[in-house]
Amino acid sequence: MPQPTTRYPNADSLIDAARSFRRRHLSNEQAAQWENDRQVPLEVLRLAAGHGFTGVEVPLAHGGLDLGYRAKLRLVEELSRTCMAFAFSLVNTHNVAAKIAHHGSSTQAEKYLPGLLAGERIAATALTEPGTGSDLSAIATSAQRVNDGWLLNGDKAWITNATVADIFLVYAQTEPNSATAGIGCFIVDAKRHGFHRHAAYSLLGGHAMGVSGFRLHDYHVDDSDLLYPPGSAFKSALNSINGARTYVAAMCCGMLYTGLELALEYGSQRRTFGQLLSSRQGLNWLLADVATDYEAARALTERATVAIETGEYAVLAAAHAKKFATRTAVTRLADCIQAMGANGLLDEIPLGRHLACAKIAHFVDGTTEIQNERIAATLHDTYRPL
Ligand SMILES: Cc1cc2nc3c(=O)[nH]c(=O)nc-3n(C[C@H](O)[C@H](O)[C@H](O)COP(=O)(O)OP(=O)(O)OC[C@H]3O[C@@H](n4cnc5c(N)ncnc54)[C@H](O)[C@@H]3O)c2cc1C
Repeated sequence: MPQPTTRYPNADSLIDAARSFRRRHLSNEQAAQWENDRQVPLEVLRLAAGHGFTGVEVPLAHGGLDLGYRAKLRLVEELSRTCMAFAFSLVNTHNVAAKIAHHGSSTQAEKYLPGLLAGERIAATALTEPGTGSDLSAIATSAQRVNDGWLLNGDKAWITNATVADIFLVYAQTEPNSATAGIGCFIVDAKRHGFHRHAAYSLLGGHAMGVSGFRLHDYHVDDSDLLYPPGSAFKSALNSINGARTYVAAMCCGMLYTGLELALEYGSQRRTFGQLLSSRQGLNWLLADVATDYEAARALTERATVAIETGEYAVLAAAHAKKFATRTAVTRLADCIQAMGANGLLDEIPLGRHLACAKIAHFVDGTTEIQNERIAATLHDTYRPL
């Protein structure tokens, strides 16, 4: 197996490298350009992979960094300070590599990991369909058993990286009316016959995520490309969802930190009515409120991270963290823009892009309402009379 070009003794050195990478390759100007051009920055994704960023949770034996979940979360938080869309695209390729490394066969690892770790191949995970998003048990893409594999038919929608990905993990129903029990997960190669990519969606922002959909028409999957058989695919999706919700919360913290940084810097230079803005109590109290919400979002994110790291029950902690951090990011990034006056709206300031991504974060990996469903289901058990 080829090894990544860079090794890190610990997570801190990975984050140092990520910060240098962000400053060098993820400037606001570049990120704004990608947004304006509606471009997925493939070259920069490849550079990031060259730093090992698509293999943080991949074992060393497979050519990854093996630095664990917290390191991945800190990496995407750091990169999101400039461009969450980039970080989200990257982590989607990372997650496919990690799933193949941890749960795939040796044939699958040999076939797919080198390209994913080198950034030569981009990957995506496809559950959502035009007819169903929140309710995954209702997916209609079908996988029909044939002699030497499976025939896949159906449409997927709202898939990160779909405009550029080479490899897709596709969740499909093998047995109609069997709900989640019949769902299997298949590795799909976009170059093969039967895969039809749709055009990129035009969104309010986040275009570096390359969101789109695709159609599978009699796409043949060999048995060797079945990643999770029916029965275990849905469970595996649920197992990884708490981690995804928690790192989305961390990404929102990263964007909000940038908002605070920029608003404070602006206030320390801008004068109105003969005084620096930073001397105005009205503005300082607003930013103090932003800081309190930022700290609360971080604390909830940390609690969920610890639960995931230690293997505790993480559903509620992840739901609280994602709900609070995504909501906070939308309202408090808007406050940061307000504190910067009209200048906060400029393209070269990342806050408009961050605001759009914070809204997008309300939907990915389970909506705010689905987090509330999880929390509400346990209210009586969690908050019993003392
Ligand atoms: C930018 C972006 C990237 C994405 N990337 C991916 C990806 O890579 N892979 C992938 O598979 N999917 C991806 N998604 C899809 C995402 O997971 C879905 O948008 C999400 O699951 C919600 O589904 P939906 O949009 O179809 O909303 P719906 O399920 O149609 O829900 C509509 C509204 O009703 C609410 N709602 C639904 N059920 C309930 C309920 N029981 N109680 C109360 N309210 C409810 C929802 O919260 C939402 O507000 C992405 C989405 C976006 C926006």
